[in-house]
Amino acid sequence: MEQLGQFNVTPDSYRDRRFGNLTMKKFKNKISVKLKNLCDLCVEKTGTLLIVTISLLVFSCGNDKTTTDNTTKPIDITTANTNTVVSKAHVVPPDFNSDSAFAYIKAQADMGPRTPGSKAHDKAVAYYEKFFKTQGADVKVQGGSMNTYDGKLWRIDNVIATFNPQAKTRVLLCAHYDSRPFCDKDPIPTNKTKPCPGVNDGASGAGVLMEVARLIKQKSPTVGIDIILFDLEDYGDNGDQYSWCLGSVYWANHLHKANYKAKYGILLDMVGAKDAVFPKEGESVFNANDVVTKIWSTAAKIGYANYFVNETTGDMTDDHVPVNKIAQIPCVDILHYNYLTNEFFEHHHRSTDDINTIDKNTLKAVGQTLAEVIYNEE
Ligand SMILES: [Zn+2]
Repeated sequence: MEQLGQFNVTPDSYRDRRFGNLTMKKFKNKISVKLKNLCDLCVEKTGTLLIVTISLLVFSCGNDKTTTDNTTKPIDITTANTNTVVSKAHVVPPDFNSDSAFAYIKAQADMGPRTPGSKAHDKAVAYYEKFFKTQGADVKVQGGSMNTYDGKLWRIDNVIATFNPQAKTRVLLCAHYDSRPFCDKDPIPTNKTKPCPGVNDGASGAGVLMEVARLIKQKSPTVGIDIILFDLEDYGDNGDQYSWCLGSVYWANHLHKANYKAKYGILLDMVGAKDAVFPKEGESVFNANDVVTKIWSTAAKIGYANYFVNETTGDMTDDHVPVNKIAQIPCVDILHYNYLTNEFFEHHHRSTDDINTIDKNTLKAVGQTLAEVIYNEE
């Protein structure tokens, strides 16, 4: 994954060889972005796009109190338009076990770097497939192929786990599982051509979603959940935003079910490091502001505002971009990014992105927040 910049405008040539001739949303006024919800914004269907990366207003977290015991209690909600008071039950999700998530991450780390074409890659795919079947999901490994920027052709295996397939309202949860084939940010020159362990950058998101799958087996949410582990996110060329996220581009162009739709998607990337911070990412705010607000306010309610910080960043190239732009599903990226230094987590694309980067407190913050959101979705 790659940073596009703190405040940038992407030219109309965004319609490129990978993202295709898309129907895009166009902001006509930067200021209006700060004041309006996405649904109010002008949608232009000519196929050209002007992306404006913005810093948003600080959002209120609201004053609702969330119960943390094991009962279901009503919460009063006053609707803005009618002042009618309705009662909405808060669903207490199962307890996200960070030891369990850590074990799933370690299992992937122990396989070695899951670079394309490697034995570890194939072993990981088999591991995910078996695991999700055990949790009661319908599992499909979507096979395909994509060219990387260096002209090489790689097989792609996107792992897709479907829970409660009959449910019409669905939420998509996703992460990439592949490891970057070169630690090009490593300070030691001889490491720059070696594959990255990809433990926080790769295995952490997959591990958290595996634990979420275990929760779903215990107690099914009302909505249907689709978990997708994307391949080939991290074989990109720095400076070429379209060289990344090839697994999700493939999926978005070849949906695993015809006319597949989800209410929204949530992407996890680098969600396991100690003292991680997840600012609100620009593409997420642009495309799915209401979902961003829901996730960040939920995290604050259950005590994780120190992770889900009320800060914004510029646009990031990550798997949520093809989900938003090609599949047209509003998708949020929960991504560790240091908004003060404008850098990813310190071991990003280095040989030191190993199991020692993973902190169970961070896994718990992300996993429990995710569980709160999906179990309270209707
Ligand atoms: Zn990466």
